[in-house]
Amino acid sequence: MSRCKLIAGNWKMNQGLSQAGALIKALKAELDSDKTCCSANCPELLVFPPFTSIAAVLPEAGGCLQVGAQNVHWAESGAYTGEVSAPMLKELGLSYALIGHSERRQYFGESDESANLRLRAALKAGLKAMLCIGETEEERQLGLTNCVLERQLRWGLSQVSAADMSRVVVAYEPVWAIGTGKTASEADAQAAHAFIRSLLAQLFCTDTAEKTRILYGGSMNAANAAGLLAQPDIDGGLIGGASLKPADFASIVRAAK
Ligand code: PEP
Repeated sequence: MSRCKLIAGNWKMNQGLSQAGALIKALKAELDSDKTCCSANCPELLVFPPFTSIAAVLPEAGGCLQVGAQNVHWAESGAYTGEVSAPMLKELGLSYALIGHSERRQYFGESDESANLRLRAALKAGLKAMLCIGETEEERQLGLTNCVLERQLRWGLSQVSAADMSRVVVAYEPVWAIGTGKTASEADAQAAHAFIRSLLAQLFCTDTAEKTRILYGGSMNAANAAGLLAQPDIDGGLIGGASLKPADFASIVRAAK
């Protein structure tokens, strides 16, 4: 099964309005200098700017470049100060919502249950959703990696239909590899992705599992991307730090071709 690779940049709480406009233009210039970077809209590119910078990035979207939000609330509207709803993001013209990133789980108390509510709200509003799952260092050392991945995936995708899975991407992000410069080995990453795909087959069916893209995230960079992206079950990357460097992000995109 050939799945179009997806390279996504999570800008986190970086790049204000003017910086974001400059970054996306610099990234497009890097990619335009290599016309073969994205042919027939593949690999797909996606960036998640902070909410306040979306206005600078969205006009640059189109072709293989999509824009998403770093978080979304599950209610359509109401008394949820500081939150943004899925219909609001859809109306703005965004394509994706990032769900359950480990920094949301670690610093803002997000749970598997709230990840599921957010994901279903995003799908209901017509957005695509990227569900992040991954074990901590301690969980890995205790041999709990597969157990954690199974719990996060089962909860996260609860009450999601096989049909809606065409709008879901899973990002495997070992927490110990995010922003640390430590990357999972190609073999370990491939094993985790194959395990996630086998779970998807159990939860849905083989066809859905084969069609669902599973991205790797955790210190992916220009140097290690090609090896990771060559693994049969790694369908792209979710990139933090290196997505803020246009030349590095473009190298990762080239590695995904
Ligand atoms: C991330 O924030 O999802 C991420 C993978 O960050 P980094 O690439 O910096 O490890």
